[in-house]
Amino acid sequence: MEELKLTSLSGKNKTVVETGPLRIGAGFTVIAGPCSVESEIQLLTIARAVKEAGADALRGGAFKPRTSPYSFQGLGLKGLKILEKAKRETGLPIVTEVLDPRDVSWVSEFVDILQVGARNMQNFSLLKEVGKGYRPVLLKRGMHSTLEEWLNSAEYILSAGNPNVILCERGIRTFEVYTRNTLDLSAVPAIRELTHLPIIVDPTHGTGRVSLIESMSLAATAAGADGLIVEVHHNPKEALSDKAQALLPEAFNRMVRKVRTVRACLESLS
Ligand code: PEP
Ligand code: MN
Repeated sequence: MEELKLTSLSGKNKTVVETGPLRIGAGFTVIAGPCSVESEIQLLTIARAVKEAGADALRGGAFKPRTSPYSFQGLGLKGLKILEKAKRETGLPIVTEVLDPRDVSWVSEFVDILQVGARNMQNFSLLKEVGKGYRPVLLKRGMHSTLEEWLNSAEYILSAGNPNVILCERGIRTFEVYTRNTLDLSAVPAIRELTHLPIIVDPTHGTGRVSLIESMSLAATAAGADGLIVEVHHNPKEALSDKAQALLPEAFNRMVRKVRTVRACLESLS
């Protein structure tokens, strides 16, 4: 394997990704929102609720990578306009997934952080394109990827000129099927040993089960993650994607309070 010239730790200071009010890698950042943007009323309802609960940024997919071509694919441009409106109202910076290199430039005009999803972690054309762009990139770990492959994907982005990469552990595929994926929390301290880039954890796709999200969020916090990205929906039963794993706003609120308490406790010890 080639050397990781730009992502490796080798004496560098920890990277803090700054955009608007966010400083990811300094403090603890909570990103929350629905899997998909479904309508204006849906997104605004959830945006207000997560803001109230203390989220730092709003997530919501306008382009969805679905296993079946017949599943809801996202609202596209209409979804981006709704996200923009939610940002205007709540002040929350926006994170959204981009699937296609041809969309990187124009989608960047609507949102603050571009997500490269697990299925695209080794889409090298997409990595080069977001690397040429000016928006920070949330790079999810591929569901079958080693830490070295994941860091090489980050290396693509950094070597194309964009230093603002946030890694996101979201679970890997194992033989276990009770959970949707197996959340690899050892990735958090392991990544700290390997790179200066910040790492956040996605307990939602990492477990696929509402009942496990709070525990895994607390564990991710204790493991030293720089933040979390969590799916929240005010009416999960009617959600157009990932309905089995969305927290209700009240549950999210409780979780955020516990997570922030654990984080403050750890900081007071260090
Ligand atoms: C998502 O964030 O909704 C998503 C599709 O995530 P992942 O790429 O981790 O599956
Ligand atoms: Mn999802």
